[in-house]
Amino acid sequence: MKIGVLSVQGAVTEHIRHLERCSVNAVAVKNRESLKSVSGLVIPGGESTTIGKLIETFGLADLIRERNRQGSLAVFGTCAGMVLLAKNIIDGCKGQPKLGLMDITVKRNAFGRQRESFETELDFKTLNTPLTAVFIRAPIIKNPGAEVETLAEIPEGIVAARQGSLLTTSFHPELTEDLRVHQFFINICREL
Ligand code: GLN
Repeated sequence: MKIGVLSVQGAVTEHIRHLERCSVNAVAVKNRESLKSVSGLVIPGGESTTIGKLIETFGLADLIRERNRQGSLAVFGTCAGMVLLAKNIIDGCKGQPKLGLMDITVKRNAFGRQRESFETELDFKTLNTPLTAVFIRAPIIKNPGAEVETLAEIPEGIVAARQGSLLTTSFHPELTEDLRVHQFFINICREL
């Protein structure tokens, strides 16, 4: 099985390394050709406005939507990737581009300046021991739809969720040595 990491901007190599450590074939996805060859796609952290504009320009956004809706592509959005997956965005830029696949409202930069970056231990529903989560100018989920399963929550709100073949985290699992969230995504890709 081949899993891609969207490689237009943001934290790409760390995700590729984590996927490789989980023994899957991981590739950088930069164009439609490489997107067609993968069964899962990680959308990394970065700047959601930049990533969103570039995937529209490169003709990737439509293909991601189409393949996910057809059930042949699982998508894992981390941080900026969460913003891109959301149906609704609070505090987005004017004309903020989005994929709009997941039935969630996401508030960008939800922790404000006081707490721009931080690390915390959290309980993740499918894991039996806590996970160290790194947050960097992170978004948070509001109003999850009925189809959305909450996987992790902190006092400020929901920070990890799944809707069928869509997985999302506000934090950066590629920045710790723990491979369990990537492994969880790989299992979702295998279920397609
Ligand atoms: N705040 C960024 C955004 O909205 C996301 C930050 C990140 O991915 N680390 O796009």
